[in-house]
Amino acid sequence: MFRILVVIYISLISMPSSAWWGKEHEIIAKVAEKNLTQQTAKKINSLLEGDRLSDIANWADTIKSQSKWSHSKRWHYVNIEKGESIEDYEVSVGGDILWALDYFYWQISDSSKSVSQRREALMFFVHLVADIHQPLHVGFSGDAGGNKKPVIWESQNRLVNLHKIWDGLLTSPNLTSHQYAKKINNSLTKDKHLWLKLSFKDWADESLKLHQFVYDFKQQNNAKKPLYLGAEYKNKNRPVAEKRMLQAGARLAYFLNLAFE
Ligand SMILES: [Zn+2]
Repeated sequence: MFRILVVIYISLISMPSSAWWGKEHEIIAKVAEKNLTQQTAKKINSLLEGDRLSDIANWADTIKSQSKWSHSKRWHYVNIEKGESIEDYEVSVGGDILWALDYFYWQISDSSKSVSQRREALMFFVHLVADIHQPLHVGFSGDAGGNKKPVIWESQNRLVNLHKIWDGLLTSPNLTSHQYAKKINNSLTKDKHLWLKLSFKDWADESLKLHQFVYDFKQQNNAKKPLYLGAEYKNKNRPVAEKRMLQAGARLAYFLNLAFE
Protein backbone atom coordinates (compact mmCIF):
# COMPACT_ATOMS: atom_id res chain seq x y z
CA MET A 1 0.00 0.00 0.00
CA PHE A 2 2.74 2.40 1.05
CA ARG A 3 4.64 1.70 -2.15
CA ILE A 4 1.53 2.43 -4.24
CA LEU A 5 1.04 5.70 -2.41
CA VAL A 6 4.66 6.66 -2.95
CA VAL A 7 4.36 5.91 -6.67
CA ILE A 8 1.17 7.99 -6.91
CA TYR A 9 2.82 10.77 -4.93
CA ILE A 10 5.94 10.84 -7.11
CA SER A 11 3.96 10.75 -10.34
CA LEU A 12 1.80 13.61 -9.10
CA ILE A 13 4.64 15.87 -8.16
CA SER A 14 6.77 15.13 -11.18
CA MET A 15 4.09 15.75 -13.79
CA PRO A 16 5.28 18.26 -16.35
CA SER A 17 3.59 21.63 -16.47
CA SER A 18 0.47 21.35 -18.53
CA ALA A 19 -0.90 24.86 -18.34
CA TRP A 20 -4.48 25.87 -17.88
CA TRP A 21 -6.65 22.85 -18.43
CA GLY A 22 -8.86 22.43 -21.50
CA LYS A 23 -11.78 24.33 -19.99
CA GLU A 24 -9.68 27.36 -19.06
CA HIS A 25 -8.13 27.44 -22.53
CA GLU A 26 -11.61 27.35 -24.02
CA ILE A 27 -12.83 30.19 -21.79
CA ILE A 28 -9.90 32.41 -22.83
CA ALA A 29 -10.42 31.65 -26.52
CA LYS A 30 -14.15 32.37 -26.21
CA VAL A 31 -13.42 35.74 -24.59
CA ALA A 32 -11.12 36.46 -27.54
CA GLU A 33 -13.85 35.45 -30.02
CA LYS A 34 -16.13 38.08 -28.47
CA ASN A 35 -13.52 40.78 -29.11
CA LEU A 36 -12.45 40.02 -32.67
CA THR A 37 -13.38 42.38 -35.47
CA GLN A 38 -15.62 40.89 -38.16
CA GLN A 39 -12.76 40.94 -40.63
CA THR A 40 -10.40 39.09 -38.27
CA ALA A 41 -13.06 36.52 -37.39
CA LYS A 42 -13.61 35.84 -41.08
CA LYS A 43 -9.90 35.43 -41.82
CA ILE A 44 -9.43 33.13 -38.83
CA ASN A 45 -12.40 31.06 -39.88
CA SER A 46 -10.88 30.57 -43.30
CA LEU A 47 -7.38 29.82 -41.95
CA LEU A 48 -8.80 27.27 -39.50
CA GLU A 49 -11.08 25.79 -42.17
CA GLY A 50 -14.25 26.51 -40.24
CA ASP A 51 -12.95 25.89 -36.72
CA ARG A 52 -13.21 28.55 -34.03
CA LEU A 53 -10.39 29.68 -31.73
CA SER A 54 -11.99 27.74 -28.87
CA ASP A 55 -11.92 24.54 -30.95
CA ILE A 56 -8.14 24.65 -31.37
CA ALA A 57 -7.13 26.39 -28.12
CA ASN A 58 -5.90 23.23 -26.45
CA TRP A 59 -4.24 21.59 -29.47
CA ALA A 60 -0.71 22.57 -28.40
CA ASP A 61 -1.13 20.60 -25.15
CA THR A 62 -2.51 17.52 -26.88
CA ILE A 63 0.55 17.08 -29.13
CA LYS A 64 3.23 17.41 -26.43
CA SER A 65 3.35 13.68 -25.74
CA GLN A 66 4.12 12.85 -29.39
CA SER A 67 7.85 12.33 -29.97
CA LYS A 68 7.59 14.50 -33.07
CA TRP A 69 6.58 17.42 -30.87
CA SER A 70 8.52 16.71 -27.65
CA HIS A 71 10.74 19.72 -28.36
CA SER A 72 7.67 21.97 -28.07
CA LYS A 73 7.14 21.23 -24.33
CA ARG A 74 9.52 23.99 -23.29
CA TRP A 75 7.60 26.56 -25.34
CA HIS A 76 4.77 26.53 -22.79
CA TYR A 77 6.66 28.23 -19.94
CA VAL A 78 9.72 30.19 -18.92
CA ASN A 79 11.74 29.76 -15.75
CA ILE A 80 13.14 32.70 -13.83
CA GLU A 81 15.55 32.14 -10.96
CA LYS A 82 14.28 33.14 -7.53
CA GLY A 83 15.16 36.74 -6.76
CA GLU A 84 15.66 37.63 -10.41
CA SER A 85 13.39 39.93 -12.36
CA ILE A 86 12.10 39.65 -15.90
CA GLU A 87 14.85 42.08 -16.90
CA ASP A 88 17.39 39.33 -16.20
CA TYR A 89 15.62 37.04 -18.67
CA GLU A 90 17.63 35.47 -21.45
CA VAL A 91 16.08 33.13 -23.97
CA SER A 92 16.58 29.47 -23.01
CA VAL A 93 18.28 26.92 -25.25
CA GLY A 94 15.56 25.33 -27.41
CA GLY A 95 13.23 28.26 -26.83
CA ASP A 96 10.68 29.16 -24.17
CA ILE A 97 7.27 30.79 -24.10
CA LEU A 98 8.53 34.34 -24.70
CA TRP A 99 10.59 33.19 -27.65
CA ALA A 100 7.67 31.10 -29.01
CA LEU A 101 5.13 33.93 -28.78
CA ASP A 102 7.36 36.13 -30.94
CA TYR A 103 8.22 33.31 -33.30
CA PHE A 104 4.60 32.31 -33.98
CA TYR A 105 3.01 35.77 -33.92
CA TRP A 106 4.97 37.05 -36.87
CA GLN A 107 4.22 33.94 -38.93
CA ILE A 108 0.45 34.33 -38.59
CA SER A 109 0.25 37.27 -40.94
CA ASP A 110 3.31 36.52 -43.07
CA SER A 111 1.93 35.87 -46.54
CA SER A 112 5.23 34.33 -47.65
CA LYS A 113 4.43 31.36 -45.36
CA SER A 114 2.21 28.51 -46.48
CA VAL A 115 -1.37 28.34 -45.23
CA SER A 116 -0.61 25.23 -43.17
CA GLN A 117 2.36 26.95 -41.53
CA ARG A 118 0.24 30.01 -40.69
CA ARG A 119 -2.50 27.78 -39.29
CA GLU A 120 -0.03 25.97 -37.06
CA ALA A 121 1.44 29.29 -35.90
CA LEU A 122 -2.05 30.54 -35.01
CA MET A 123 -2.82 27.34 -33.08
CA PHE A 124 0.34 27.72 -31.01
CA PHE A 125 -0.16 31.45 -30.47
CA VAL A 126 -3.75 31.09 -29.19
CA HIS A 127 -2.61 28.50 -26.67
CA LEU A 128 0.55 30.25 -25.51
CA VAL A 129 -1.07 33.65 -24.91
CA ALA A 130 -3.26 31.81 -22.39
CA ASP A 131 -0.35 29.92 -20.84
CA ILE A 132 1.80 32.97 -20.15
CA HIS A 133 -1.08 34.46 -18.14
CA GLN A 134 -1.11 31.47 -15.78
CA PRO A 135 1.25 32.89 -13.11
CA LEU A 136 3.13 29.62 -12.64
CA HIS A 137 4.09 29.44 -16.30
CA VAL A 138 6.57 32.12 -15.42
CA GLY A 139 7.95 29.95 -12.68
CA PHE A 140 10.98 29.16 -10.59
CA SER A 141 13.06 26.23 -11.76
CA GLY A 142 13.53 25.24 -8.09
CA ASP A 143 9.97 23.93 -7.79
CA ALA A 144 9.33 23.51 -11.54
CA GLY A 145 6.68 26.23 -11.60
CA GLY A 146 4.85 24.73 -8.61
CA ASN A 147 4.81 21.21 -10.06
CA LYS A 148 7.11 20.04 -7.27
CA LYS A 149 5.15 21.81 -4.53
CA PRO A 150 2.76 19.18 -3.14
CA VAL A 151 -0.55 20.44 -1.80
CA ILE A 152 -3.53 18.72 -0.19
CA TRP A 153 -6.53 20.39 -1.81
CA GLU A 154 -8.92 20.32 1.12
CA SER A 155 -12.28 20.57 -0.59
CA GLN A 156 -11.57 17.38 -2.52
CA ASN A 157 -9.24 15.89 0.08
CA ARG A 158 -6.70 14.91 -2.51
CA LEU A 159 -3.03 15.36 -3.16
CA VAL A 160 -2.26 17.71 -6.03
CA ASN A 161 0.43 20.28 -6.59
CA LEU A 162 0.43 24.06 -6.63
CA HIS A 163 0.67 24.19 -10.41
CA LYS A 164 -2.50 22.14 -10.86
CA ILE A 165 -4.42 24.41 -8.51
CA TRP A 166 -3.66 27.36 -10.77
CA ASP A 167 -4.28 25.32 -13.92
CA GLY A 168 -7.87 24.55 -13.16
CA LEU A 169 -8.87 24.04 -9.54
CA LEU A 170 -9.41 27.72 -8.73
CA THR A 171 -12.13 28.34 -11.30
CA SER A 172 -15.76 27.53 -10.57
CA PRO A 173 -16.84 24.05 -11.71
CA ASN A 174 -20.45 25.27 -11.81
CA LEU A 175 -20.09 27.40 -14.94
CA THR A 176 -19.61 26.07 -18.47
CA SER A 177 -16.84 27.61 -20.54
CA HIS A 178 -19.52 29.50 -22.48
CA GLN A 179 -21.08 30.96 -19.30
CA TYR A 180 -17.66 31.72 -17.87
CA ALA A 181 -16.50 33.59 -20.98
CA LYS A 182 -19.67 35.67 -20.97
CA LYS A 183 -19.31 36.48 -17.29
CA ILE A 184 -15.70 37.57 -17.37
CA ASN A 185 -16.03 39.40 -20.70
CA ASN A 186 -18.80 41.49 -19.11
CA SER A 187 -16.28 42.59 -16.49
CA LEU A 188 -14.07 44.13 -19.16
CA THR A 189 -13.62 47.62 -17.80
CA LYS A 190 -12.70 50.97 -19.28
CA ASP A 191 -9.17 50.72 -17.93
CA LYS A 192 -8.40 47.97 -20.44
CA HIS A 193 -6.43 50.43 -22.57
CA LEU A 194 -3.90 50.50 -19.72
CA TRP A 195 -3.10 46.82 -20.11
CA LEU A 196 -4.21 45.82 -23.58
CA LYS A 197 -1.16 46.98 -25.49
CA LEU A 198 1.56 45.78 -23.16
CA SER A 199 4.28 43.50 -24.56
CA PHE A 200 4.71 39.74 -24.15
CA LYS A 201 7.51 40.45 -21.69
CA ASP A 202 5.18 42.69 -19.66
CA TRP A 203 2.67 39.83 -19.46
CA ALA A 204 5.43 37.58 -18.10
CA ASP A 205 6.39 40.26 -15.58
CA GLU A 206 2.77 40.48 -14.38
CA SER A 207 2.67 36.70 -13.91
CA LEU A 208 5.90 36.84 -11.93
CA LYS A 209 4.57 39.63 -9.70
CA LEU A 210 1.44 37.57 -8.96
CA HIS A 211 3.66 35.07 -7.15
CA GLN A 212 3.12 37.20 -4.04
CA PHE A 213 -0.44 35.77 -4.01
CA VAL A 214 0.40 32.34 -5.42
CA TYR A 215 2.99 31.65 -2.70
CA ASP A 216 1.09 33.26 0.17
CA PHE A 217 0.24 30.29 2.36
CA LYS A 218 -0.32 32.32 5.53
CA GLN A 219 0.80 30.52 8.68
CA GLN A 220 1.90 27.52 6.65
CA ASN A 221 4.72 29.39 4.93
CA ASN A 222 7.38 27.61 6.95
CA ALA A 223 5.37 24.53 7.83
CA LYS A 224 6.22 21.01 6.82
CA LYS A 225 5.06 19.61 3.50
CA PRO A 226 2.59 19.06 2.02
CA LEU A 227 0.61 22.24 2.39
CA TYR A 228 -3.10 22.20 3.16
CA LEU A 229 -4.99 24.71 1.03
CA GLY A 230 -8.72 25.19 0.74
CA ALA A 231 -11.59 27.66 0.72
CA GLU A 232 -9.60 30.62 2.01
CA TYR A 233 -6.91 30.24 -0.66
CA LYS A 234 -9.53 29.62 -3.34
CA ASN A 235 -11.71 32.62 -2.42
CA LYS A 236 -8.71 34.92 -2.38
CA ASN A 237 -7.21 33.73 -5.64
CA ARG A 238 -10.19 32.90 -7.86
CA PRO A 239 -10.62 36.60 -8.81
CA VAL A 240 -6.91 36.72 -9.67
CA ALA A 241 -7.24 33.69 -11.99
CA GLU A 242 -10.39 35.15 -13.56
CA LYS A 243 -8.68 38.47 -14.23
CA ARG A 244 -5.78 36.64 -15.87
CA MET A 245 -8.22 34.75 -18.13
CA LEU A 246 -9.91 38.02 -19.08
CA GLN A 247 -6.60 39.71 -19.83
CA ALA A 248 -5.43 36.73 -21.88
CA GLY A 249 -8.63 36.65 -23.95
CA ALA A 250 -8.83 40.40 -24.56
CA ARG A 251 -5.13 40.63 -25.42
CA LEU A 252 -5.34 37.63 -27.73
CA ALA A 253 -8.12 39.37 -29.67
CA TYR A 254 -6.21 42.66 -29.72
CA PHE A 255 -3.06 41.05 -31.18
CA LEU A 256 -5.03 38.98 -33.70
CA ASN A 257 -6.99 42.03 -34.84
CA LEU A 258 -3.66 43.75 -35.48
CA ALA A 259 -2.23 40.76 -37.33
CA PHE A 260 -5.24 40.35 -39.61
CA GLU A 261 -6.12 44.00 -40.13
ZN1 LIG B 1 0.33 24.72 -22.53
